[in-house]
Amino acid sequence: MDASFVSSFELAGCEWLVQMSNDITEYGHCNIDQHVIRLRSGMSDQLQSLTFYHELVHAILMTMGKMDHSEEFVENFGNLLYQFMKTVKNIEYESIE
Ligand SMILES: [Zn+2]
Repeated sequence: MDASFVSSFELAGCEWLVQMSNDITEYGHCNIDQHVIRLRSGMSDQLQSLTFYHELVHAILMTMGKMDHSEEFVENFGNLLYQFMKTVKNIEYESIE
């Protein structure tokens, strides 16, 4: 699934919004108080997706109460999550008459 289609999602009953922004210096930013992930606009689809999954891991960890987590963990986990989402295949159901 391409993360550029993500506009909102829920974690533990809280709705998060994903917004594109011109005026952030980082690739992305995760705001736990506002439940907003901001992504820098104008990035390639791949970089945008990688950044989204990186910020999503931050959001998940903070939702779990892990406010003081490792950036290295987030980077690695986010990259693997991106890889999973890029390659996952669903069972193709055949219609049963
Ligand atoms: Zn980070």
